[in-house]
Amino acid sequence: MKKLTGSCLCGKVEIQVPDQFDFIGYCHCSQCRKWTGSAFAAGGLVDEKDFSITAGEQFVSRYPKSEETELGFCSGCGSNLFSHKLKRGKYIVRLGVLDDAPTQRPNVHIYCASKAPWFEITDQLDCYDELP
Ligand SMILES: [Zn+2]
Ligand SMILES: [Zn+2]
Repeated sequence: MKKLTGSCLCGKVEIQVPDQFDFIGYCHCSQCRKWTGSAFAAGGLVDEKDFSITAGEQFVSRYPKSEETELGFCSGCGSNLFSHKLKRGKYIVRLGVLDDAPTQRPNVHIYCASKAPWFEITDQLDCYDELP
C-alpha cells in the first residue's frame, strides 16, 4: 500500500498514513470550524493501527475535546493534525497537512446543517445535514 506523508507548518511533526481512506470528505460542523479557524475541515479516516507519527512525537499536543475525541496539534506552530476517535479506534487526518496528494478525492460534505452562513457550497457533492 502506498503511503502518504504529512507535516505541520514548522516541520517538527511528521505523520504517515496509507493512501486509502475509509471516508474522505468535508466537515462543516461548528467544532471543526473553531478548531481549524476555517469554513470547514477536510479530513480522511484511517484505522488507528495505520496512523503513525514518524517524527516529532514530543511536539504533538492533545486536546481532550470529549470522551470520544482527542484533537492533535503541533505545540510549536499550532497546525491541526488529526482527531483521534478513541472509542472507535480511528484517526481523522486533516488533509491540509498532507505533503502528498491522496489518490481519493473528498466526495461528501457532512454536518451541512451547521455550516457557516457565510460559506456557500458550490460543488455537486452529496451534502448531509449530519452524517450519511
Ligand atoms: Zn509544527
Ligand atoms: Zn466536524
